[in-house]
Amino acid sequence: MKRSFVIFCTALIFVFTAAQGFAAMPSITPVIEKAMTTLQVIQADRNFLVLTNATAVMTDGKSSLPILEQVQEATGAIVGKGNLLFFQRAQDAPLRIMLFKKSDRSAVIISADNSKWAVDTLDFAPKTVSDPNFWKDAKDKYAAGKDLFTLATLANAWAEGAPYDFLKSAELHNHICPGLTSGYLMAHFILDHYPLGKGQKYTIISSPVWCKEDAFQVVMDQTPGKRGLVVKPLSEEQKEKISIPNPAGMVLIWDQKLKKGKGVALSFDFNTLKGLYPKETPKAASILYTASYLSSPDKFVSVAKEFDLDETMFNAIREAGGNPWEPAGLTTP
Ligand SMILES: [Zn+2]
Repeated sequence: MKRSFVIFCTALIFVFTAAQGFAAMPSITPVIEKAMTTLQVIQADRNFLVLTNATAVMTDGKSSLPILEQVQEATGAIVGKGNLLFFQRAQDAPLRIMLFKKSDRSAVIISADNSKWAVDTLDFAPKTVSDPNFWKDAKDKYAAGKDLFTLATLANAWAEGAPYDFLKSAELHNHICPGLTSGYLMAHFILDHYPLGKGQKYTIISSPVWCKEDAFQVVMDQTPGKRGLVVKPLSEEQKEKISIPNPAGMVLIWDQKLKKGKGVALSFDFNTLKGLYPKETPKAASILYTASYLSSPDKFVSVAKEFDLDETMFNAIREAGGNPWEPAGLTTP
């Protein structure tokens, strides 16, 4: 009797421990419903946004898509309505789901946190995100602290009516900063002023490198994998040697059949962009000032030089910088 009791207890402890170890997240639906009540929004309302990294991150070691399905069903937010956005994160990053109301910019952020849902209720109103004090302790103060910059910038860009291709660029870059904005403006400058003729293709030489590269990929479909985007970091010394003002990159327009093309060196004027907002503005608030200029690339981007390309020059610009395997000692003499 005594022995069987011990076995029973051992088994019970084992089952209990195993259950704890493999505990799945509880259903998110009631948490979402509560958030909607807090924000006073209803399903049919397009004026609230759902922003999540559910398409990128794993939850309990599994795809987060089933959770996203519940979120979509409970909120009614869908991509086609423009009120469901995603942001990129590493697969082991915690799941975040934010509900954000346009009118007063209040937000409820739900985070996966050790088999439970952690909920932050706050606002990203201009007054809040423009206050440097808010950002000082935000990382530690909120469960979603590490993603607050991402969530605040994307939500405010959406609330300010930023174009969808800008929001898509921000999804990939996972935040909005003056650097990403410069890439978006450059991409549209190129599309506006240098539309491709028949048989032509773009190669963007993005050098020096800053956040802008992610906008070229989304707006222009010029990606490194398809060789449409060549990303070349430069040393300070290399940067100083560039002879054009505010160098931001080059676009090469190449005709493979005719074996000739045109190169355009572009300048980006950060002084004008940063001149749009007061000096002490936190980075997260800059989008509040720059959003209305996203359709005015000519205000910030200019042509520093145009030049003709032959095949030797085209290849030399794309391939310049030497073979990276050489300094690694992995080439034969
Ligand atoms: Zn950035």
